[in-house]
Amino acid sequence: MESLGVLLTHPMNTYLEAELDRRCKLFRLWEPPPASRKDFLRANSPSIRALVGNSTVSADADIIEGIVACYSVGFDKVDLAKCRARGIRVTNTPDVLTDDAADLAIALSIATLRKICSAERYLRSGAWKAKGDYMIASKFSGKTIGIIGLGRIGSAIAKRAEAFGCFICYNSRIQKPNTNYKYYPDAVSLAKDSDVLVVACPLTAETRHIVDRNVMDALGPNGVLINIGRGSHVDEGELVKALMEGRIGGAGLDVFEHEPHVPEILFSLDNVVLTPHVGSATVETRRAMADLVLGNLEAHVMNKLLLTPVL
Ligand code: NAP
Repeated sequence: MESLGVLLTHPMNTYLEAELDRRCKLFRLWEPPPASRKDFLRANSPSIRALVGNSTVSADADIIEGIVACYSVGFDKVDLAKCRARGIRVTNTPDVLTDDAADLAIALSIATLRKICSAERYLRSGAWKAKGDYMIASKFSGKTIGIIGLGRIGSAIAKRAEAFGCFICYNSRIQKPNTNYKYYPDAVSLAKDSDVLVVACPLTAETRHIVDRNVMDALGPNGVLINIGRGSHVDEGELVKALMEGRIGGAGLDVFEHEPHVPEILFSLDNVVLTPHVGSATVETRRAMADLVLGNLEAHVMNKLLLTPVL
């Protein structure tokens, strides 16, 4: 792979960066100052035959030939139509991050319903001693969990929630065979019957704002929204309004419409739990994702079958 010119869009994992540096000819897009990045790309594009981006940053297909290896399972930042037209291959990192994303969905569900983060803030602030017991919260075990997108991650969330005695229902474009979970053909009817609504589908034109005002109102004042998909699955402006007006019960969010910007009004709400897009952010999983990126680049160079092709 020594001759493969790889453009890394930003620092995303030290192991991945070190291995790319060791095995390929690495170009770091963040090294030149922003004003001279275009010149940097123009000067080096004849050597660049691969791009490694992730769920937050990719780059325009015009600047490369060869392959885009996403360091994420979601490839919504990649212009697939353009890549297809230019014969550029695309890969992602499915499966290896499924457990972590599903673990986080359950953690956010429990943390939101049981108010774990605000209870902890209460204790740390000395309020327990000064004011007495913290307020009581809501139970997670036994609740009805509605999942939008019963794929790898959605199914792993369902399996975990079943162990908590939860009732599982879901929405997807096609009803899944081999499952007894209750199917709903649309997000509004799913939300209406759910205590906890979890978003775990890919971001596409069809799923942008799949959780809109109607879905939030169907979820209702006792319902909780969990988003571990992508920020743009949820109409964030409507979510803020629904939370402020008490039209939904709470939210556990790992992803946001304009990352890393998060509506600051959410910081003050005790029924909201926020994490900075850390669904796959464990040492073990990030290493496995890096190995998959490297494996795909190696297969591409050696003209072998790609390990996890999208295109
Ligand atoms: P997957 O296996 O492809 O599953 C996606 C599921 O979504 C499929 O079952 C699909 O079923 C369903 N779906 C697609 N379009 C839909 C629509 N219009 N309405 C309802 N359901 C729809 O993907 P995955 O590996 O589970 O990953 C899912 C997403 O999670 C990724 O794309 C990524 O954006 C996100 N993610 C986030 C993090 C994080 O850090 N927060 C980490 C990993 C992944 P049908 O085809 O039948 O519709």
